[in-house]
Amino acid sequence: MRYLHEYPGAARPSSVRWVNNQNGRWGSCTPADRTIRLSHRVQDMPDWVLDYVLLHELTHLVVPSHNSAFWDLVSRYPRAERARGFLEGVSAAAGLDMSDD
Ligand SMILES: [Zn+2]
Repeated sequence: MRYLHEYPGAARPSSVRWVNNQNGRWGSCTPADRTIRLSHRVQDMPDWVLDYVLLHELTHLVVPSHNSAFWDLVSRYPRAERARGFLEGVSAAAGLDMSDD
């Protein structure tokens, strides 16, 4: 992933899977085993939103928590803020309480 180019080893997941049992989160990452799960709800969204969710989770392989270093990395993606707004809008419209964990 070019936004994390200086972490070629760290930002490599062991698996990325679609899941449909993840109702509170768009995506999740378990740094201990380097697995990433993405909600099926993201599957039909525009590619740039899917890219944001994937980048968000990949960044957790480098920085596990939502600290400033984490958001600095995520903000390298030019549409990060727009994607977050898109996800908030979908969440609100659907009456969901989704977060981008
Ligand atoms: Zn997160």
